[in-house]
Amino acid sequence: MDIRKLFDQKRCVFSFEVFPPKTDSSADTVCGVLSPLAALAPDYISVTYGAGGTGGNLKTQDICRIIKNRYGIEPLMHLTCLESRAAEIAELLAGLRADGIDNILALRGDRRETPAASDFRYASDLVSFIKAYGGFNIVGACYPEGHFECDGKKRDIFNLKKKVEAGVTHLNSQLFFDDEDFFDFKERARAAGIDVPIQAGIMPIVRDRQIDRIIALAGVKIPQKLSRLIAKYGGKPNALFDAGIAYATEQISDLIAGGADGVHLYVMNRPDVAERITNNIHTLLRIGHDN
Ligand code: FAD
Repeated sequence: MDIRKLFDQKRCVFSFEVFPPKTDSSADTVCGVLSPLAALAPDYISVTYGAGGTGGNLKTQDICRIIKNRYGIEPLMHLTCLESRAAEIAELLAGLRADGIDNILALRGDRRETPAASDFRYASDLVSFIKAYGGFNIVGACYPEGHFECDGKKRDIFNLKKKVEAGVTHLNSQLFFDDEDFFDFKERARAAGIDVPIQAGIMPIVRDRQIDRIIALAGVKIPQKLSRLIAKYGGKPNALFDAGIAYATEQISDLIAGGADGVHLYVMNRPDVAERITNNIHTLLRIGHDN
């Protein structure tokens, strides 16, 4: 199923993101994460590509197949292109089609110092390639605070528009911690003529270790309100977990009230995080649907 249709049926689409486990990605481990997530009935589940880990035996496409066939939930397969040849991508697309995987998040990927040869420069090149291949619904990434490589938010929106025009039917955002950044971005995107649904990416901060990683993600601001929580509850795992869930819940409540098309939750393979957030917001999602 084309997940773009969800945005016509629901006021607020709610989805999860998982990654292939780094080392032990046996079917048992993967299903240990997916089973409780599936029980929360998200609208779809996306699976990262090359990002959270690649060493395990089950890869992105295998996990997408399990999500679809075992749990009856629509998967969104992430796919990067920066180090790929067109022939490799075509072969991969043939495999996805054979597996009945209909939705692809088309990404460039992060640059490395010694990149492999590639036929693609930007995500929009991959979008055009998939569109010409045919038969897939294509999603794109966007950055409420601007992509870290781009010299200006205006230029970033200009580039984003080119990506959407190449064939993207909805956008999933980078994580952010200040909803005003998202609302401001959405307004600028609409003013530029980008009219596809934009889903807000939310990552609850529940572990000390996450914080350094997020600071390393250039361009993602940590508001004072969140810094205070980290300063107070860092090193106290249970307190930080509760505070991080409360912060993310408040962000989502505000996003739904502000008319966000959807919320994409970075669950970090933690069903306990997904469960707490889903329980906190399920009536808000229902109000979104009924309106
Ligand atoms: P692009 O859309 O190509 O943009 C990259 C940069 O190029 C931007 O600065 C943009 O303004 C600029 N640009 C775009 N088009 C043009 C043009 N025509 N001319 C000049 N400049 C241009 N990474 C992974 O490795 N695996 C994942 O699974 C993964 N999942 C992600 C999921 C989401 C929701 C997000 C937001 C990011 C994800 N990433 C993932 C990270 C992503 O690969 C990086 O952020 C990467 O640096 C940019 O990818 P992109 O697809 O947004 O690139």
